[in-house]
Amino acid sequence: MKLRLLDYGELTADLGWTIEAAGVSTHSETAPASPRRNFQMLGALLEHPKHGLILYEVGPAPNWQEIWPDPVKEVFGITRYAEENRLDNLLKAAGYEVNDVKAIIIGHAHLDHAGGLEFFRGLDVPVYCHEEEIKYAFYAIATKQDFGAYLPHYVDSAFNWKPVYGPETELFEGITLYQTPGHTPGTLSMKADLGNGESYLLTSDTMFFKENWVDEQPPGWLVRNMGDWYKSLDRLKRIAARDNCHVILGHDKEIFQEHAKKGVIG
Ligand SMILES: [Zn+2]
Repeated sequence: MKLRLLDYGELTADLGWTIEAAGVSTHSETAPASPRRNFQMLGALLEHPKHGLILYEVGPAPNWQEIWPDPVKEVFGITRYAEENRLDNLLKAAGYEVNDVKAIIIGHAHLDHAGGLEFFRGLDVPVYCHEEEIKYAFYAIATKQDFGAYLPHYVDSAFNWKPVYGPETELFEGITLYQTPGHTPGTLSMKADLGNGESYLLTSDTMFFKENWVDEQPPGWLVRNMGDWYKSLDRLKRIAARDNCHVILGHDKEIFQEHAKKGVIG
């Protein structure tokens, strides 16, 4: 199986969303500047020997400027999104068309990870997403309790949603999905065993940055269940150690670049 990482551009936001107490005021520094960070948006394209072309995460909608609410753009606005970052063009650059994709895996259904489903509107491609995530996405939107992180344009029955159940699922040979809640209830991390001795573990936003993964700093305002997050951290660390995985985090640009520059892996 071959894997390549996809560059969906970048958004820029306050670091306090992803790292607890980043920029917090203290007695000795009562008004510190709020640190900001560029968030790499990324996905993975897998060429499976039996099941064909599989996408893990689809990035934002190409027309995000029109369909993201203004408050979301103000807080999480995209700061790098060129023609080359569009999913259809990324597929073209890899020698494929949108129609060639046989399956989509949604790590979690936030707007910067699932909005790119717009490229697949009208197609019947299965969209695998955890049961808990599908349910919560509608709840978040309908009650407005988490509106903005989830948007209705893709939480739409026009897509061929396929629920993934329980804590662990081998979706296809060599592709294992793990429910790793914390950031959202149904975040799916994915392990791809490439068959050449290399394994890649993509955490989606269960882990945003190196600080969360290496230094084990808990996430900031974007966490929805901190107890679950610590359990997911423990689980992912055990999986990564057991299978000696390369670990790709949800928004870490440096880690992304290190592996994206390899091109086709496996
Ligand atoms: Zn994200």
